[in-house]
Amino acid sequence: MSHLFYLSTAKRPVLDRAEGIYMWDRDGRRFIDGSSGAMVSNIGHSNPAVLAAMRAQMEKSTFGYRLHFETEPGEALAAKVAALCPAGLDKVFFVSGGSEAVESAMKLARQYAVVRGQASRWKVISRFPSYHGSTLGALSVTGYDPLTDPFKPMMVAMPKIPAPRAYLDGLDMDDPATGAHYAAMLEAQILAEGPETVLAFIHEPVGGASTGALVPPVGYMQAVREICDKYGVLLIHDEVMSGGGRVGTFLGGDLWGVVPDIVAISKGFGAGYVPLGAMVAPSWMVDAVQAAGGFLHGHTYAGNPLACAAGLAVLEEIGRCDLMGNAARVGAVLKARLKALMQRYGFIGDVRGEGLLLAFELVADRETMAPLPAAMKAFDTLVELAYAEQLIIYARRTRGGYAGDHFLVCPPMITTEAQVDEIMEKLTRALDRFA
Ligand code: PLP
Repeated sequence: MSHLFYLSTAKRPVLDRAEGIYMWDRDGRRFIDGSSGAMVSNIGHSNPAVLAAMRAQMEKSTFGYRLHFETEPGEALAAKVAALCPAGLDKVFFVSGGSEAVESAMKLARQYAVVRGQASRWKVISRFPSYHGSTLGALSVTGYDPLTDPFKPMMVAMPKIPAPRAYLDGLDMDDPATGAHYAAMLEAQILAEGPETVLAFIHEPVGGASTGALVPPVGYMQAVREICDKYGVLLIHDEVMSGGGRVGTFLGGDLWGVVPDIVAISKGFGAGYVPLGAMVAPSWMVDAVQAAGGFLHGHTYAGNPLACAAGLAVLEEIGRCDLMGNAARVGAVLKARLKALMQRYGFIGDVRGEGLLLAFELVADRETMAPLPAAMKAFDTLVELAYAEQLIIYARRTRGGYAGDHFLVCPPMITTEAQVDEIMEKLTRALDRFA
């Protein structure tokens, strides 16, 4: 009997070792990590430089409580992150994961509002569907009923607006009117709530698991920034999944040149070597909060030297090997190959994403984009068929009514074109059996 428990009850092989984009189970079977776990292992497994940096740091110290010591890896990593972020985002607050990063962002935003005499602002508008984390604060801005429903009485109800899923609404992604249409929903929501009550808007620049790598329509990102500015609403980018280089730039927002007021990163930041995340904010906000007594927030393991040394080595590897460039190049190849599948399989309704944050969605009818019937359990079936091919992909069901099925194909940023061939062979075999 196993003493572990998780959400899923699916029986999985026991992991033995992992290297690069491959993972071996205890029986010696080799899997391709086609989703980098949950879009985490961005630079692949067992990277020698990261392991060496971790070993070296372990020999020196593994933990120094942040209220007792500064650490060299912490300082160096904060400087590196600030250098990679757009100008102005220069203060880094470390945490150990994505939910913590989102919680931190919302709490910093709130404290800043209080400090500047706007205590009436507390609502954080978010999108539906969306995923921002499992803890109650992050869950309150998450738009995904199956995960939130049981906990609703325990959370403050936060306003939601529709995510810009132009592909479902039959709108043209490349038409500026489409971006304006979805951004207008934010403005309408702010006005309906009363701007003086709205603290922030949080969204994922390139969607994660909840929307399956949703890319916003032309003009949306800029329009959202302008609307936030117009009403004094802080803009939080949740880049827990899209940040760290996977989309081909360090942050998803960089693809549109849009700078948020606060950004949350995690996943690919620790890249599966350590639990690590960060909230990055501008000095003007942090200084104001610090001057008024300090940020009332923190997690015990935050900024520990081992995690920071690993995170620093991850970012150095990304720079040394131009992995963001590789994610952009190989991502374009993989996306084109996934799009080509649409000719072969009528049930692939959409292929989307940026860099190596890519997804395809299954539909019953490409014309109407009607989802496959839930009874088909396409979600489970295709994941298992891919598993049988020893290919790991990441699936979610997030349409209204939750009958839509999309699959993230997000191998590590070190993936080569030859490995794309390997992934596509396995995926095609799985889809052939699914068809
Ligand atoms: N935000 C986004 C966009 C995510 O994709 C996730 C995790 O999937 C989270 C937040 C929560 O991160 P964590 O699971 O590390 O708490």
